[in-house]
Parts: sequence; C-alpha cells; structure tokens
Amino acid sequence: MARISASDALALFQESDLLGLGQRADEARKLLHGDGVVTYIIDRNINYTNICVSGCLFCAFYRTAKSGEGYVLSSEEINEKIAETKDVGGVQILMQGGLHPTWRIGEYEKMLREIKAEHEIHIHALSPPEICHIAELSGLSIKETISRLIEAGLDSIPGGGAEILVDRVRSRLSPNKCNADKWLEVMRSAHGLGLKTTATMMFDHIETLEERIRHMERLRELQDDTGGFTAFIPWPFQHGATALGKSGVEKKTGSLDYLRTLAISRIMLDNIPNIQASWVTQGSKVSQMALFFGANDMGSTMLEENVVRAAGVSFRLSEKEIRGIITDAGFVPRRRTQAYALLPEPA
Ligand code: SF4
Repeated sequence: MARISASDALALFQESDLLGLGQRADEARKLLHGDGVVTYIIDRNINYTNICVSGCLFCAFYRTAKSGEGYVLSSEEINEKIAETKDVGGVQILMQGGLHPTWRIGEYEKMLREIKAEHEIHIHALSPPEICHIAELSGLSIKETISRLIEAGLDSIPGGGAEILVDRVRSRLSPNKCNADKWLEVMRSAHGLGLKTTATMMFDHIETLEERIRHMERLRELQDDTGGFTAFIPWPFQHGATALGKSGVEKKTGSLDYLRTLAISRIMLDNIPNIQASWVTQGSKVSQMALFFGANDMGSTMLEENVVRAAGVSFRLSEKEIRGIITDAGFVPRRRTQAYALLPEPA
C-alpha cells in the first residue's frame, strides 16, 4: 500500500464515506496484523502525585500545591498497588503525575529504584512533559535526564502530553507545558537511548482537521528516523469538569469522528505497528467497532484510572469483558507485554 500524503489524508478524512474509510483502514491493519489477534495488557495506572504547576485547560485531575487537595503517594502505597497488580497477572505499571513544583531528578530516581528493589515489573513512566520539567528543574539535558532515569529503572516512556503537536493549539491549551518540538525531542532521545515509547493524540477541542493530520505527520516523520514508537493511541478530549469544557468549547462530534480519526491514523501511520482502541473513553460498543477501523489493540485493563475519571467519564471493563468484546467481534484476544510480545493465555 503506497504511503498517503498529509493532503491526501485530509481529503480522505473530509470526503470519504465512513464505511469506505473503515474498509481502507481495515486493509492497512490486516497488512500488519493479518492473524486476527487483538492484544491487551494487564496493568495499572499509578498517578504518583496530582500536584502540578502546569494548569492545562483540559485537565480535571491536577491540583495546585496550595489547594489542600493535592496528594503524593507514599512508597508503601505504591508498593501495595503494584502487589495488587501482580496478583491479577499484571506485568506493567504506568506511572504519570503532575509537574511537581519542587521535585528534582533525585526524587524520581528514588521512586524508580524503590520499585525495582521490591518488584519485578515493567515501569512505563514519565511522559515527555514530565521529563522536560524534571530536566529543567534539575539543570540537566533531556538526554542526561532520560539516561539517569533508565539507570534508576525506567523501562519505557508513555506518549502522554502530546495533545496536538502543533504549537498554536498547545500555547492555548497548555502554555506551561513543553512545546511540540520538545515533546518530539524527548521521544527522539529516548529512542536513541534504546527505549521504546508510545504516542498519543488528544483531539476534538480547538484543533483543526489539518492540525490533527499534522500531528500524525510529525509522528510519522520521527518514526521514519528512529522506529521507536510501538503504538499510537488517539482519544477525544473529555469535556467534563475541565476549565476548557466549562469555557464553552463544545464537543464537535461523537463516536463517528472518533472512528474516522482512528481509521485515518491507521492509514497515515504506516510505520507505527499498533493502533489502540480507547475503551476507557469510548465504552465497549465503540471500542469493538474500532477493531474494524484500524485498531488491533485494546490497550490496558486499567485496574486503576484517575485522569479520565476526573473529567467525568467512567467506563470500566474487566479483563473478561475486554476478551468478550474481542471474541464477539471475531478476533482472538491475547495478553501482551509493553513490547507487544504475546503472553501465555490465562488459566
Ligand atoms: S495534563 Fe498533566 S501537566 Fe497538564 S495540568 Fe494535568 S497533570 Fe498537569
């Protein structure tokens, strides 16, 4: 299948009928995942703190240090959450927090080391805005920061905080967070140091369709250079209790826009092997349909999820339900690792 240009992808998005677009994405998915396997991972989101100086307009999760509602998880609490995760077959923890006003790299090294001392578990942690923030407060380069975090136990980096990789959008939504170039620099450095990462896109707010496509194009360009992205995870902005939602930015579209965006991402990102369906924002029915619009992965079982829930969305699915969604759609469910290696079937 020939690579599609950004302008052709935009035209396809705007002009193609939904089913035709889905069919094309499904063909692209089959080229990479013709075996009908749909994967998922057992893991838990651990938000080590909600104290954050960034104040992103779309975020209902963060609290300021002075709010009285901020928290920092203790080592004991983190250990307990990991032990619970392992008890149900979990192989990974996803750790993200706010941009803490005072923590320097030593705090994060300590947290990672303490986890590795207690547990054999993959640590998928610290998205690019967190890495940039740590580097800045610690007076280190991005590369030095990531190297030290790897040394302390970091295994891979989640692609959070990408939102839309266009600074017109970022400067309005999250002016205190790293810009698009910095986000990409973190990922380039991580890939150069041998880490795999994911990439995300939060859409359906103030961005144009052209900017959505530009986001994908920038990821594709970096992936051509490094090959370090394992998966792309798009989801629509959850308006709920966020400053942006309250400011009157309306949800433009619903599930159909999600499926169209997902399909375009599968067609456009021909060099990123996996596309995740977002059941946590879309629920079971739409995430099942997503499997026919380019997705080959259901993401995490999310034993714990705080960020989307804070915005007022509360889809919950058990592993059994996730497997049922996959099987009922005619696919084969398989547990996986963060590196997309298939794991033995649960007993
Ligand atoms: S999205 Fe992240 S960086 Fe932005 S306010 Fe929320 S916790 Fe802070």
